[in-house]
Amino acid sequence: MLLTPHTFVGVAIATAIPNPFIAVPLSFALHFAGDMVPHWDFFSNTRKEERLVGWRPLAVMADLVIGVAVGLTFTLHTLWVLHNPHLALNIFLCGIASVLPDALEGPYIYMQKNPKILNWLTKTQSKMQFQAPLPWGVITQIFVIFVCLSLILSSARLS
Ligand SMILES: [Zn+2]
Repeated sequence: MLLTPHTFVGVAIATAIPNPFIAVPLSFALHFAGDMVPHWDFFSNTRKEERLVGWRPLAVMADLVIGVAVGLTFTLHTLWVLHNPHLALNIFLCGIASVLPDALEGPYIYMQKNPKILNWLTKTQSKMQFQAPLPWGVITQIFVIFVCLSLILSSARLS
C-alpha cells in the first residue's frame, strides 16, 4: 500500500488502543496486513531500474510527505488542541511503526546492492504484496483511509 493509508491505519490503532506497548507493535504488524489488501502503488509492475528515474521517486516522496503530514496533524492536534500528550505520543509512535517496514526498505530501493539485513524484510514484504490494477488498486486504499478516518473521528479519545 501507499504510505498515506498505512499512516491512517497507525493513527486509527493509536486512538483505539491507548496502551502504546500493544498499539505500536500492532501498528507495525498491520503494515503487512495492509499490504495484503489488493492495491496499486508507484512500483506496481516495475523493474528496479524504472523505480529510480522519472516521476516515480517524486511520487514516492509526495506520498511520504502526505503520510508524515497526516501523522503530524493528528499528533499536534491531540497535543495542542486536546492537551493529551499521552495519546499524542501514542499516535506519533504508531504512525512511525505503521510505515516502518517500508521506511527500512527505502534505502534498498535506491541502492545497487541489497543490504543483507534487509533481505528478509524485502522478501517477506514482496511476497505479501497483493497488487491490483487501476482504478481498483486505488479505490481499495481510499476505502481503507475512509474506514480508518471514521474510526478516528468516532473515537471518544479524540473529542
Ligand atoms: Zn509495505
